[in-house]
Amino acid sequence: MVDVNRSKEIQRVLIVTMAANLLVAAAKLIVGLLTGSLAMISDGANSALDSTSNVIGLIGNAIASRPPDREHPYGHRRFETLASMMVSVLLILTAWEIVKSSISRLTEGGDTPDRSHELHLDDRHAGSQHRRHGL
Ligand SMILES: [Zn+2]
Repeated sequence: MVDVNRSKEIQRVLIVTMAANLLVAAAKLIVGLLTGSLAMISDGANSALDSTSNVIGLIGNAIASRPPDREHPYGHRRFETLASMMVSVLLILTAWEIVKSSISRLTEGGDTPDRSHELHLDDRHAGSQHRRHGL
């Protein structure tokens, strides 16, 4: 027993969401590249990653809507659960990235410490300076 309408509706929502994610990603990447803002570029990359979960959802949904066959006599609904689990893992990874970058902004960003005594700026410092300009 397969609810074709339900699967079609899920597919429609996933495609619209994916299109929105890709538009946001493109906009952020273009602005980031034009302004040289690393924060904006990494934001755009995150939005692009968001569309990955839409693709996983679409594949899971397509498989789940297949009718039962010899190997799967009870149908393929479990593939939807599997896809949901993969999307959850991606969400947890994204959340972890946000927490990590927030912590590094708190510890490295904010008030600029006096580095005038330093003779050399390594790549890490140059990078964080870029991020500050970007914000
Ligand atoms: Zn099967």
